[in-house]
Amino acid sequence: MPYLHDPDDLASLIGDGPSYRVDQLRGWLYETPVLGADEMTNLPKDLRERLEPLWPFEVEMEQSADGGATRKWLFRAPDGAAFEAVLMGYPRRVTLCISSQAGCALGCTFCATGQFGFERHLQAGEIVAQVAYARAFLRKFGLPGSPDRLTNVVFMGMGEPLANYDRVREAIRRMIEVMGMSARSITVSTVGMVPGIKRLTDEPWPVSLAVSLHAADDDLRSTLVPINRRYPIADLVAAADRYYEKKGRRVSLEWTMMDGVNDTDDQAVKLAGIARELRAHVNLIALNPTPLSPNKASAEPRIERFARLLGDLGVNVTVRDTRGKDIDAACGQLRIRSGHRQKVG
Ligand code: SAH
Ligand code: SF4
Repeated sequence: MPYLHDPDDLASLIGDGPSYRVDQLRGWLYETPVLGADEMTNLPKDLRERLEPLWPFEVEMEQSADGGATRKWLFRAPDGAAFEAVLMGYPRRVTLCISSQAGCALGCTFCATGQFGFERHLQAGEIVAQVAYARAFLRKFGLPGSPDRLTNVVFMGMGEPLANYDRVREAIRRMIEVMGMSARSITVSTVGMVPGIKRLTDEPWPVSLAVSLHAADDDLRSTLVPINRRYPIADLVAAADRYYEKKGRRVSLEWTMMDGVNDTDDQAVKLAGIARELRAHVNLIALNPTPLSPNKASAEPRIERFARLLGDLGVNVTVRDTRGKDIDAACGQLRIRSGHRQKVG
């Protein structure tokens, strides 16, 4: 479907049909999305046939885990670029984790996408089409034990959203202004691209911001997150603080727990200092093992101790569950194993 077209410029696709077709088409693309043009029941057949091949990607694979409550899709664009999205159902919400780039150039040592390297930026339409696809899927099939409505979108799939700023911005604009989502239900997760955080601060929408911190001093952080050498913790915290002040939205700090690396009492105390300063919520998540990293997940008692220590120091903290581990759909596990179709043959 024509997600690569600006939603305000759909008339060229309609040809010489009546002008109300533009609104009908916009409705099928953005308001009540469908899985295929054949479901656009009030459009004439020849128009549907012209629209069908215009989908920005094919669904190459769908996998299911957690009793059907987690779905992972592998999407393939016509140029061969591949990216993934993960849909996770909970009793009162449904969260879609989307990709902003095919691959990622930032090379965080513990992340499968980073280990895979950078392929290309995703276009705004390719980002929005992931959301439309999930909404259409939910309306048609639903997830067991969850609402049949998408409640949250998180930029925690492949790629660094703030390294693809303009396209991600346009995707967010379409989600809010054309699809009718609330800004608060959209979370941009960043490893700490300070200029991008500054730009996002000046946008009109109070989207939620998650900062992937993982270490509370620059020496350790630079070994895990190479971009920290360019944007050290003090600059990152200052930018996050400004975001909070301007938007009135608490920032969350993401912390991937790695055995013997960043799960020490010393790191907890330093993290507590940063979190209190920012009045941020801390999300702890056990490392999901990736093929090329020697790191192991912290043991459960360690994670509990770390969380308790943060709590005792006055920090709001949640230990996040890991979804879709067995289908490599969990945070940081997304990477395309088969590579380009051309390479596969
Ligand atoms: N580039 C952005 C968003 C994509 S990564 C960012 O880094 O924030 C989404 C989240 O997954 C981040 O919080 C990241 O730190 C986390 N993550 C990466 N690799 C992981 C792994 N192996 N196990 C658990 N979480 C991981
Ligand atoms: Fe890129 Fe985020 Fe993975 Fe780092 S953690 S390599 S920024 S996707």
